[in-house]
Amino acid sequence: MSLKLDGKKLSLEIEERLYNYISSNKKIAKRSPGLAVVRIGEDPASGVYVNNKEKACSRIGIKSFIFHLNDSAEQEEVEELIIKLNSDKDIDGILLQLPIPKKFDEQKLISNINPSKDVDGLNEINIGKLVKNEPAMRSCTPAGIINLLRSQNITIEGKKIVVIGRSLLVGKPLSLMLLNLNGTVTMTHSKTLNLNKVCKEADILIAAAGKPNLVDSSFVKEGAVIIDVGIHRLKSSEENLTRLCGDVLLEDVISKVFAYTPVPGGVGPMTVTMLLVNTIFSWKKQFGLSSTLKDLLP
Ligand code: NAP
Repeated sequence: MSLKLDGKKLSLEIEERLYNYISSNKKIAKRSPGLAVVRIGEDPASGVYVNNKEKACSRIGIKSFIFHLNDSAEQEEVEELIIKLNSDKDIDGILLQLPIPKKFDEQKLISNINPSKDVDGLNEINIGKLVKNEPAMRSCTPAGIINLLRSQNITIEGKKIVVIGRSLLVGKPLSLMLLNLNGTVTMTHSKTLNLNKVCKEADILIAAAGKPNLVDSSFVKEGAVIIDVGIHRLKSSEENLTRLCGDVLLEDVISKVFAYTPVPGGVGPMTVTMLLVNTIFSWKKQFGLSSTLKDLLP
């Protein structure tokens, strides 16, 4: 039987460690860790994600500050807010909830975030340090995937790993993190020829294309590990009902694989957990606290 990489269970285990870490260090720091989330516009999925992050923060003792701006806000207004948060002593992490309306210059806003508070790891200083394999804030979804693999002692070093997708949010940073951990990584994209043949070589296959059910059994080697990053809400045949699915057609591949992540309950919860981890690391650094959480960093 295939092994389920249960992101929900692992995220609860890590949250317990984070809760204990904050409780035992709060007296020294004299304040809780603080996370600012900047949301722009009314994208409903973003509303759900921000809510989940707020709840996760309150479960473990991080103080969250939500700044919800209207679509009519100007670029300069958001930049000023970020600059203000950069120097706010109660804030250890700043997250710009993506996507934001197209009229904004997203990269410029991310560049404005102080790299040491860039808990999404998307600022070019942090990406540059990732390329150089130097310690820095790492982006949350890739870091969560590495924790999921490690939790089941799945070896990365020396393994053939294929990543589908080359976005700045997932595919690129994930490929670099796996390379830094001595995986032999192939990054693929929408122009890759014979995608299924390339993927079939993989010991670990990671699907982050954002295409529902793209990966079927023709992509998968017997005994491979398969990680599904995609998340899609599809209308089901019964009226008014929707169901979640990923980039992987799980029912077609499950009998072939050694291990897999479910959707939901796989990569998604780990993304939120790594946001908490990054916020706590920024807090820890500011107050020179001891580190018992190092194993959570990729
Ligand atoms: P994105 O920015 O749209 O990037 C998608 C990437 O996949 C692109 O590099 C694209 O190639 C490639 N691609 C698209 N169709 C392809 C195909 N048919 N064959 C091969 N490659 C293909 O998406 P993203 O932000 O990386 O997110 C990917 C998925 O992960 C989405 O479903 C998103 O919702 C999900 N996600 C989940 C989490 C989580 O926590 N669970 C977090 C982040 C994202 P080109 O570069 O050539 O266009």
